[in-house]
Amino acid sequence: MATQCTYIKPNKEKCRGYAVSGSKYCFAHDPTQASKRKAAQRKGGEAGRVATLPESSLSVRNMSDVLELMELTINDVRAGRLDVKVANAIGYLANVSVKVIQQTDIEARLEALESVLEPERAAYIQRRRAA
Ligand SMILES: [Zn+2]
Repeated sequence: MATQCTYIKPNKEKCRGYAVSGSKYCFAHDPTQASKRKAAQRKGGEAGRVATLPESSLSVRNMSDVLELMELTINDVRAGRLDVKVANAIGYLANVSVKVIQQTDIEARLEALESVLEPERAAYIQRRRAA
């Protein structure tokens, strides 16, 4: 039969954990289990960490860059080199990048159009004034 841990918490409450066999304390409070507790915490920390790739900087300036990034990410996830969580974040950021690239492209095309049209417009206004 399991016995209750005899540890008294700082708030004077009795611990509700079950004592480890051969001890008066539960796993969390048994002083002889301290090193095992540390190891378990380390293991938990490692499990919670996501797989990332070594630091590298890829250019994400145009659609071809985004395509290359997607290709690398897909292959890294498929081969188990990259955590799905990281890949999801990359997917999201790539989507943002695509929108910015498209917007920048539209702005550049509009500027080019305006630079052609502006002299035409000025000439038109001149003709109207002269008439
Ligand atoms: Zn306890």
